[in-house]
Amino acid sequence: MNEHDKTRPASSAQLAVFGGEPRFEEVKHVGRPNIGDREAFLARMRGVLDSMWLTNDGPLVREFEARIADTLGVRNCITMCNGTVALEIAIRALGLQGEVIVPAFTFVATAHALQWQEITPVFCDVDPTTHVIDPGRIERHITPRTTGILGVHIWGFPCDTAALEVIAERNDLRLLFDAAHAFGCLHRGTPIGNFGDAAVLSFHATKFLNAFEGGAVVTNDDALAERIKLMRNFGFVDFDQVTYLGTNGKMAEPAAAMGLTNLDALDEFVEHNRQVFDRYRRVLEGLPGVRLVEPASLNGWNYQYVVLDVNAEAAGLTRDELVAVLWAENVRARRYFYPGVHRMEPYRSVYPHSHLLLPETERLVRRTMVLPTGTSVSVEDADVIGGILAQALDGAGEVRRALERREVHT
Ligand SMILES: *Cc1c(COP(=O)(O)O)cnc(C)c1O
Repeated sequence: MNEHDKTRPASSAQLAVFGGEPRFEEVKHVGRPNIGDREAFLARMRGVLDSMWLTNDGPLVREFEARIADTLGVRNCITMCNGTVALEIAIRALGLQGEVIVPAFTFVATAHALQWQEITPVFCDVDPTTHVIDPGRIERHITPRTTGILGVHIWGFPCDTAALEVIAERNDLRLLFDAAHAFGCLHRGTPIGNFGDAAVLSFHATKFLNAFEGGAVVTNDDALAERIKLMRNFGFVDFDQVTYLGTNGKMAEPAAAMGLTNLDALDEFVEHNRQVFDRYRRVLEGLPGVRLVEPASLNGWNYQYVVLDVNAEAAGLTRDELVAVLWAENVRARRYFYPGVHRMEPYRSVYPHSHLLLPETERLVRRTMVLPTGTSVSVEDADVIGGILAQALDGAGEVRRALERREVHT
């Protein structure tokens, strides 16, 4: 049975919210892992077991670091056990303290990595079109305690790096990027990872390039890279010699084996996601109130996320209602980044009024949803998912009433 056989005919089928069977038997997820050549991975793992070099700067980790540095054209890549620890270590190695300016429209780890070491994340609003931190709103947040800006290339859409570099320079701030979504993305022809003081990558299983768990800091600053390497390994410079306060942020060999295997398949992942994206775009074209969010330039994008903006008034259904319609069909579309980091603990208790300065973030967290993509979503699946959305928008009034009835019964 191929992928397509697992879906039921689109046009005549009743939506599941009206009592029909879910269109997909097998649940479709956002962020199902992309896995490269299984045999190549297993061969690498046999090598790991044979050599008994399981971790501590092993040959696969070194190879992975060299390949990433080469792919991005950066001088240094320091891998880590995950992206969050990579953020924490980069923040500490850059000497950030006091307050750091950061968007609230991001995954919670961006802010947690600061708060975890008692640095206050000061939330800055984002640009409604590009979804990244709005440089025009940064300087109003700068106080004598501000030491840095942490920009996020959300969805792989590049921050306005030139503007951020000017602001950082003018105010004597360090500039770090959370590039967890942006592996392989270009900004004006330059790979993400070459801007600011450093950038942090994530290779979590749900990310476009996965190493089970994993992360990295990339930087063109050699002295910074040295500090980060020491901090990653308890501050050890030699067998018995510790010169620094450090932690354990090391990536193990199996993670590097997975990362290398998937790196070999990266072009295929991008091409697959591009085709899925193109199909979504074609099916959704002209539907009322829904719009695919795209980067300023599709050239050099990794197509990791399919982001849909829902204008509830024009659509006749809210973003949440459309998500409910899709879940009923076994399509696990997601509300990102709902409700916004500023509305999560501990931030909501500590800064209960921060939303007043974040009007665009507040708007986006109510309108934005992410559709499934990746290698377990076929072009035909995108067709069917787009068709479900079209059908729902077409019968918006009835869909709303059906959802209300379900609400009463559950
Ligand atoms: C995934 C992610 C992280 C954290 O990475 P982990 O490897 O899961 O720790 C940080 N920031 C953003 C924007 C992310 O999406």
